Amino acid sequence: MAHRILILGGTTEARQLAGRLAGRTDVAVTLSLAGRTVDPVVLPVPVRRGGFGGAQGLARYLSDERIDLLVDATHPYAAGISRNAAEVASVAGVSIVALRRPAWMPVPGDRWTLVENGAGAVAALGEKPRRVFLALGRQEIADFEAAPQHAYVIRSVDPVEPPLNLPTATYILARGPFREEDEQELLTSQRIDVVVAKNSGGAATYGKIAAARELGIEVVLLRRPQLPEVPAAASVAELLDWIDHWLDSVEKRGV
Ligand code: NAP
Repeated sequence: MAHRILILGGTTEARQLAGRLAGRTDVAVTLSLAGRTVDPVVLPVPVRRGGFGGAQGLARYLSDERIDLLVDATHPYAAGISRNAAEVASVAGVSIVALRRPAWMPVPGDRWTLVENGAGAVAALGEKPRRVFLALGRQEIADFEAAPQHAYVIRSVDPVEPPLNLPTATYILARGPFREEDEQELLTSQRIDVVVAKNSGGAATYGKIAAARELGIEVVLLRRPQLPEVPAAASVAELLDWIDHWLDSVEKRGV
């Protein structure tokens, strides 16, 4: 019988993993999305959308759906769902593995200012008016209403509705990956003097970091949240290997 896998997604890697597992007969995969983005991307496996209703709701779902393996392939800043996943898996005795995308590390030429959160980023921008590129999710950008002296260029996947209460804000709708040369063009044409971003890791959104370095522009980076310690892989390929080993071991135990 196929082993039932729930992938907690919302990332490119979750989608890629689902694609790699989709045709197999030894696993039955469902992908779970928070459901905040209007996602036009066609997904290769059954999808469920929306929160579970906290750790208890997730526990109920895992039991109702007889999930054998939970794969936490959420965004590195989605700490709430990652904590719930680790806690519920341990209590319910469900196997868990996480995709932990390595963080970007500074290289010579980077001008990074590390901050704890959106409010920290606002403070780091200072009093003097600047031209700020906000490459953050919709959830974090509300903090910047506290600093209306700056001019903002705000990029998001879905429209920011309602728009922020800011006198000078330009909205750009786009979905990554973003190429370094396009990011350089954006930073130059918009006369950006500071970028605010998360340390997402991976190649898809690194272009703005490389572009800022090239142009000598400061990057205010939100620190990554603390994530629970669970078995982890750093890439989709590693995750597939981990899952194959896990399948071998459950077959051997006759589970
Ligand atoms: P979060 O604080 O971990 O999640 C908040 C709640 O959303 C969770 O407790 C859960 O609700 C629900 N949720 C999150 N991911 C889910 C999934 N895959 N399936 C079902 N429910 C899910 O994180 P967040 O609020 O989503 O995002 C925090 C940061 O991560 C932001 O910076 C955001 O821009 C970034 N991010 C998140 C995603 C994503 O898909 N979550 C994607 C890209 C970037 P219940 O407690 O009700 O189960």
